Amino acid sequence: MFILKDRTALVTGAGRGIGRAIAAALAKAGAKVGLTARTVAELDDAVADITRLGGQAVAIAADLTAKDATTAVLAEMTKQLGPVDILVNNAGIGSSADPKPIAEFNDDFWDLTLLLNLTVPYKLSKAVLKHMSAQRWGRIINIASINSKMPSLHGAAYTASKHGLLGLTRTLALEVATEGITVNAICPGPVHTLMNDKRIEYDAHRRGIPFGEIERLMTPIGGRLEPEDIAPMSVYLASNEARMITGQAFNICGGVLLY
Ligand code: NAP
Repeated sequence: MFILKDRTALVTGAGRGIGRAIAAALAKAGAKVGLTARTVAELDDAVADITRLGGQAVAIAADLTAKDATTAVLAEMTKQLGPVDILVNNAGIGSSADPKPIAEFNDDFWDLTLLLNLTVPYKLSKAVLKHMSAQRWGRIINIASINSKMPSLHGAAYTASKHGLLGLTRTLALEVATEGITVNAICPGPVHTLMNDKRIEYDAHRRGIPFGEIERLMTPIGGRLEPEDIAPMSVYLASNEARMITGQAFNICGGVLLY
């Protein structure tokens, strides 16, 4: 329905999960897509899926937390596909990687989470503005979370980083509003991915409740979302039709944030 032909998109964390579904959906809508993550095999598989369906995609392997990685990824993007018209900041690290109450929180894990979930989106967004502003068209889509709006127990760094990402989204949206650039966030609820599997495993262990029981009751609608439930909103936000939508944070959460 929405046409992204002649647009170039960069999706971070696109080897699996939500980022992979977003990359596939943008490519299906006609965009040339750069996919970045650390795991080469997953990236290659995702790119192969896209090209099999007639889309155009390239894999750019990188650890985005490494020094100068954001600059290197954007340089490679520009070389292979052209400058970025649509940036999807999706790569993230979840609370489940090291969940702890704040009193016992690991400082290094705090720093890593803030770096990947907040500083990297800031750096990539800052770097793509020049091109977007010059052509008076650009889309920045930040994959935030319902934890941008509600806490995650033992996940202080994740919750803080995702709240911060909404602050970045809104401030940047305001700053570039007259330049043809929109900046929005998507706030997923629990999505069936590796990251969320780990979180359920932690909660199941902590609460002594079976995995399947927690999963079943996670949303008012029932169960978890799939990555493909998130992707269509990114295509819409990237389209010309969404030109008047900016600074917003859309919940796609199975009703978790109803109350
Ligand atoms: P996922 O399945 O774990 O995928 C995360 C992606 O990010 C992978 O491709 C991973 O690839 C990449 N990544 C991780 N660390 C990286 C690094 N240092 N440098 C570059 N890439 C890196 O997670 P997901 O559930 O799809 O989450 C995607 C986004 O959605 C995250 O921002 C997350 O916070 C958000 N979100 C998820 C849920 C959920 O329930 N799943 C809910 C709300 C929001 P490599 O490991 O190969 O690098």
